[in-house]
Amino acid sequence: MRVPLLDIPASYEKILQDVETNINQVIQSGQFVLGPIVEELEQKISTYCESKYAVGVSSGTDALIISLMAAGISEGDEVITTPFTFFATAGSIARLGARPVFVDIEQDTFNIDPNQIEKSITNKTRAIIPVHLYGQSVDMNPVLELAQKNNLVVIEDAAQAIGSEYEGRRTGSIGDFGCFSFFPTKNLGGFGDGGMVTMSSEDVYNQVKTLRVHGSNLKYYHKVIGGNFRIDALQAGVVLAKLKYLDQWTEKRRKNAQTYNQLFKEKGIADQLTLPSEVTLRHVYNQYVIRVKNNRDELRSFLSEKNISTEIYYPLPLHLQDCFAYLGYEKGAFPESEKAANESIALPIFPELTQEQLSYVTEKIDEFTKKYGI
Ligand SMILES: *Cc1c(COP(=O)(O)O)cnc(C)c1O
Repeated sequence: MRVPLLDIPASYEKILQDVETNINQVIQSGQFVLGPIVEELEQKISTYCESKYAVGVSSGTDALIISLMAAGISEGDEVITTPFTFFATAGSIARLGARPVFVDIEQDTFNIDPNQIEKSITNKTRAIIPVHLYGQSVDMNPVLELAQKNNLVVIEDAAQAIGSEYEGRRTGSIGDFGCFSFFPTKNLGGFGDGGMVTMSSEDVYNQVKTLRVHGSNLKYYHKVIGGNFRIDALQAGVVLAKLKYLDQWTEKRRKNAQTYNQLFKEKGIADQLTLPSEVTLRHVYNQYVIRVKNNRDELRSFLSEKNISTEIYYPLPLHLQDCFAYLGYEKGAFPESEKAANESIALPIFPELTQEQLSYVTEKIDEFTKKYGI
């Protein structure tokens, strides 16, 4: 038995025909950047995410950058976010010359702890980027309250969370901007890089569209400095073909998570493993992450020997990265993030996993715990 972390080709059977149709259409049209298929994808994503507008961009990273640009973030500004996220979240802030200000995470959700945000707000704070990590929404009400009170822009990093919900609202439609990624490992992945920004303000929509094409509305005349943040038509065609199956795949991910939970409970090791908590519905399980306190890396090697792939998201919190040394954070500054980096391990959760594979993974983890303890 072999269990990869992700089996992208496993989904091909379903989608290849639609993908081919869309790709052929793009090839025939000769329009390879933006164009009608991108507009169709934007319209469908905005509907799916319950946002008024959507703008297709080159990646999830560029979705963050263009949102920060549209929000007017620049040198001297501070932007609050979590240190326990993919690098792009804080990297984007720094690339605009602004300062990432980190706030520690909650133990159960791995998401930014809303109770610790207020003490980090200064007169330079301009925005908050909550990250819906692993596919579960941040507790948004307190975030929105603080933002309103302090006049801050809220940019949701929903790169891992398309279709997830908070109190019945889709993530990405709750703040001022929603940032999505079509990187192949995300729940809605293309055959390359791509992303999307969602928003409800028409002004912001027009601004983002202008920034996407070097800040020009009229070709070769530039009112502001933007960038090339465009999405390819071929990528849009792939993502559009896959979007039809997203809900089905998300249900499979949720079901796989339930199966893991059930099997770990039956084996009596659920508490030891600290199973993922599902606080805000609905969690879309881009990752299924458990905690192993003392010997996470040993478990990982053990599983690897049994042909089970796992991953650590993320082994070093951002405040301890070399490139952010200038921010002056010390080890111990964010104990929950540092603990999560040492304890967390992501198990395979992709939609096409079989019952046998799920059982095999839980059996091998059970075997490890009985042999070595955890
Ligand atoms: C993947 C990811 C991004 C960046 O998306 P890309 O499309 O790879 O640029 C940003 N934030 C988070 C939380 C991500 O997981």
